[in-house]
Parts: sequence; C-alpha cells; structure tokens
Amino acid sequence: MKIFISVDMEGATGVCHREHLLPGGDDYQHARRWLTGDVNAAIEGAFESGATDVLVADGHGTMRNILLDDLDPRARLLTGPAQPGNRPLAQLGALDHGAFDAAMLVGHHTRAGTPGGLLAHTWIGMVVQEIRLNGLPASEAMLNMAIFGHYGIPVVMASGADDFCRQMREDFGERMALAEVKRALGPTAIVTLPLVEGRRRVREAARAGLAAGGEPYVVELPVAVEVDVHRDAMRERALELGATPVGRLGFRYEGDDLIDVMERLWRTLVHITREDTAFLR
Ligand SMILES: [Zn+2]
Repeated sequence: MKIFISVDMEGATGVCHREHLLPGGDDYQHARRWLTGDVNAAIEGAFESGATDVLVADGHGTMRNILLDDLDPRARLLTGPAQPGNRPLAQLGALDHGAFDAAMLVGHHTRAGTPGGLLAHTWIGMVVQEIRLNGLPASEAMLNMAIFGHYGIPVVMASGADDFCRQMREDFGERMALAEVKRALGPTAIVTLPLVEGRRRVREAARAGLAAGGEPYVVELPVAVEVDVHRDAMRERALELGATPVGRLGFRYEGDDLIDVMERLWRTLVHITREDTAFLR
C-alpha cells in the first residue's frame, strides 16, 4: 500500500507565528523539528496500518522545511521549490495515475478570509483574497484533494488546529479522520498540545483514516477556478497569461482537464508575484 503525505507547516503542533514559518531565526529551526515530529507520527501510523511505501511532500514556503536527518528512514521525501518548471501543482508532485492508494494532509490550515483563522491564507496570502473551486470557497486542502481525486486517491486523514478541523468537517463531512493538535485563539496565537500528544493524535488519525478508507474527492467537469486578488495590478498580470476576468478583482480558468486548470492557476499566481518570489526560492 502506497501512501502520499502532503505537508504544510502552519498546522503543525506548536506553530502559531510567521517567525516559526520563515527561514532566519531560532524559532524556525525549532518549528522544523516540531513539524518533522508530526510527519513522523503520520508515517508511523501509515506503516502500522499496512503501508509498504510512503512519499512525503514538503509543501510549505521554500518547501525545504522537513529535517531529513530526523525523518523516519522508511519514507522518501519530495522537496524543493514550487516553481512551475519544478512542481507545477504547487504543493504536490510525482503523482502518477494509480500509483498511490491513499493520501494524508499534515500541518494544514484554514483558507484565506476565515474569520480569526490561525495563519489563514490560500497559497499566496499577499495575492489571494479567495479561490473558488466550482463556486465553493477553497482551502489549499480542498485544492489538493481535488488533485488527488483526479488521480483516484482518497484523502483519509488531515491534521491542524481546531479551526482547520472544523472547516474540513464543514467542507467534507466525515470523509476523513482529523487530528486536532492545537486550539486557535486568533490569527497568531494558540493553546497547543504538548508535542508528544499532538504526535499521538496524528498517528491515531492516520491509523483510523486508513482503517476507514475513503472516497476520492472528484470535482465535476468542466472545472472552474476563480480567484479574487487584492489589487487591480495583480489581476492585470493574470490577464496577461490569458485568464478571463470576473467581477471587480477576479480572474477565472475553466476546462475539462483539472490538472491543466490547476497548473494554469499556480503558474498565474507565481506570475503575479514575479517581482517578489522570495518565498519560492
Ligand atoms: Zn504553508
């Protein structure tokens, strides 16, 4: 049984602030260990449930956060920046049809615009007000689930703060097991569980999710993705790449090939930030 684990950092046990999320200070170096611990817990749960192969995809910022020295050696690691020529699906990659039996989302967070949401954003906070997938406000988790769903892969487990877990229940009901590793008090404050307890919950949810199985999240075709950005100039750049304007600050892509639409979406968001792509380096 082959498992794909997609990893973000905002929803890791203990993480609550920008300084945890960006290379530079001591806070970040600590947070990388906390994150790697949550990832190891998911790997542990997967192997206890019959996994024979686990691929972990580092999907936050520079996409070089997970500490290879500390990562469970049974797993392989997909790492390196999400430039379109590298990882055209942003947080994911190396997804061949039928190659994975199930996926997990570790360390995820609420979508842009979530009131009081902990570190809430959708892919690029300085650009995106909201992304809609076939009309539904989409989190990164939802966008990734749609990509997994295209390949027939069910997402069986997700971990993050309580606000993220609530949003996943609202969006997807009982479709997956959830691990709540901290309580959000606002955009940058939490009551966190101890590392050992956060990891225990991640491991338990991984086991529970794989035991329950799950259905792939398959979106209806043709798929439409709409993005509202913060400023006119950002939309102008999207239109340079052939996006269709919608509303006052929105653009849209539509098509029968979900992967093509998602790749165009990511390429466009990167194009909009072409003068400041430090976060991708
Ligand atoms: Zn992130």
